[in-house]
Amino acid sequence: MSRVSFNRNRVRLKQLLGIRARLALLALILVAPLMLERVRSLEDARSKQVAAATAEFASLAQHSADAQQEVISSVETVLKSAAYIRASAGGIGRSCEILRASLPTNLPWIRTLLIVGGDGRVQCSTNNVFVGLDVHDRPYFKKARETREIVFSDYLFARITNKPVVMAAYPVSAISDESDSVILAGVNLDWMSKIMSNLGGRPGISAVLVDGSGTVLAAPADEASMIGHSLDTIPLLSAIAEEAMGSEAPQGTLSFVAADGSRRALSYARIAGTESRLIISIDEARVSAAINRDIRTAYLQLGFVSLFVLLGALIAAEKLIIGPIEMITSVAKCFGQGDWSVRAAPKSLPAEFVPLARAFNAMAAQLCERERELVATNDRLTVIASIDMLSGLANRRGFQSRLDFEWMKAQQYNSELSLLMIDVDHFKLFNDTYGHPEGDACLSRLGEALAGIAAETIGFAGRYGGEEFCLLLPNTEAKRAVEIGETVRISVEALAMPHATSSYQKVTVSVGVACTRPNAEQQPGDLIEAADAALYAAKHRGRNAVVEHGFGRGTDGAVAMAS
Ligand code: GH3
Ligand code: MG
Ligand code: MG
Repeated sequence: MSRVSFNRNRVRLKQLLGIRARLALLALILVAPLMLERVRSLEDARSKQVAAATAEFASLAQHSADAQQEVISSVETVLKSAAYIRASAGGIGRSCEILRASLPTNLPWIRTLLIVGGDGRVQCSTNNVFVGLDVHDRPYFKKARETREIVFSDYLFARITNKPVVMAAYPVSAISDESDSVILAGVNLDWMSKIMSNLGGRPGISAVLVDGSGTVLAAPADEASMIGHSLDTIPLLSAIAEEAMGSEAPQGTLSFVAADGSRRALSYARIAGTESRLIISIDEARVSAAINRDIRTAYLQLGFVSLFVLLGALIAAEKLIIGPIEMITSVAKCFGQGDWSVRAAPKSLPAEFVPLARAFNAMAAQLCERERELVATNDRLTVIASIDMLSGLANRRGFQSRLDFEWMKAQQYNSELSLLMIDVDHFKLFNDTYGHPEGDACLSRLGEALAGIAAETIGFAGRYGGEEFCLLLPNTEAKRAVEIGETVRISVEALAMPHATSSYQKVTVSVGVACTRPNAEQQPGDLIEAADAALYAAKHRGRNAVVEHGFGRGTDGAVAMAS
């Protein structure tokens, strides 16, 4: 990996691990264990609730099966009692009387009791319409005689009343070999359905009692339409008909996907002594729908809590950390751009940032003060740099910038600008005669004199270099400039500084005068050159003289004497 891309990746990683991301991560780390604990307890609650529902249901089913079993047992008891009566009472007439008199009237699950003779004809019945009925071809009748045990029929229709019924048959031969009669009882299917009522009215649950051939014998009231139908024809149960009916086990459970796509759990139990089975099918999704809804709501709440915590962390990060940092950064940027008036506002900051903001403001105030001092020092240095210490006048640099300024001004107002170049005559000889320090003193006095004249004439005096001075005269025409030049010359002469090696015996100066009305074609340097040329001419004129240059008048550089 190249160094550049490595650095880029590092920057990206830093951005990713910014304060916002770190706080969000911290919030998640804090919330995660709580969330996990909540999820765990929710899942725990779900499995407990499903287990409780299943257990409750299993116990209901068991009660129902037990109740059915009790019905069967009591039917069996009644049949056996009747068989004893038939076996011990002698003739059928007597037996019939005893039977009718002794049949308990409080057994709602037995419709009719019948005594059938060996030929299969009903000899006695609690309901007279059955007397004489031939049942010899009925499978339950035949089987009871063969097995000498109690036999329950499948779902059938009574021959006379054409009502659905289940018949129980008990051969008297089971008690006494002498009799070939069989006792029959019609079992009340409505009653069996009533027993199952506790399994009804529950969404997602179907409960049916089926006979050996798979026909529904009994069902809770809300599923009563299934009674008399074969399991094969019932949509939700057809898939399991074969398996539930084919099993020899007394009870069992199955899990399957029904035709409507619902996942169903099925449990079945055989009613002992019969071919009947109690079948209960549960739509798992519907049974656990309420639990799932609760759990979904809980998950939703959990999600919202997490979201709020995250948002809270982000808002807190924004308000408590990022905001203050950005505020201080923007103030620092203003400082960087030279705006020292900006200040961080400690009142709007969190307490932890207040000392930083105060230190920042104090630093800004100090830096501002230092900059002010620096500017002042700089200004002073600039002034010092443009002053000549010996003469007290502006030096060449100071003069040059003033000339540029006055040039511009004169150009702007179309006024005249004059310049006097003043040179001490035979100054070398002066130095040679009186020494350099005396020369300096002479230059100093000349400076004072020139300053005085500049003040009077509203001019600007400077030391151009060595023993050469200049006097800039704004708004001054040539004639007036020449007059001032003369004033200068006379003033120096009047100082009467002795100069033994000069023909004048005192210090004198030569003055070159130039005047112009500045325009775009001229430069300030042209004015200096013209004044210099006039000075040169003055020297040639014998010194201690004032000469004007015709520069400004377009006299083509002709030199004119002014005195
Ligand atoms: P001219 O009349 O032609 O101007 O002759 P001059 O001797 O004045 O001119 P020149 O250029 O030959 O000599 C100038 C002298 O000025 C030489 C130098 O020693 C002297 N000088 C220049 N600056 C200073 C200074 O600051 N102090 C002193 N004491 N002398 C200076
Ligand atoms: Mg000179
Ligand atoms: Mg000189």
